[in-house]
Amino acid sequence: MPIYEFQCKECSRDFKTLRRAEKLNEVTCPTCGTDHIMRLLSVTAQVSAEQPSFQGGGCGTARDAASCCMRAPGG
Ligand SMILES: [Zn+2]
Repeated sequence: MPIYEFQCKECSRDFKTLRRAEKLNEVTCPTCGTDHIMRLLSVTAQVSAEQPSFQGGGCGTARDAASCCMRAPGG
């Protein structure tokens, strides 16, 4: 179930709620109870795209270099 974010037009409080899409018109402000609310843009898709470009096994780090790149040939 997606999380929707709203802001109350009466008391200006913003709040998030779990709600089915067809139930969005039943959402009321948890503070003052009014249904004079407006829906804010969803922020549910906050997945970080940042990942380490090096993930082990390579010669990219100095630590690995000692046992990988700098290894003497033949043993
Ligand atoms: Zn309110």
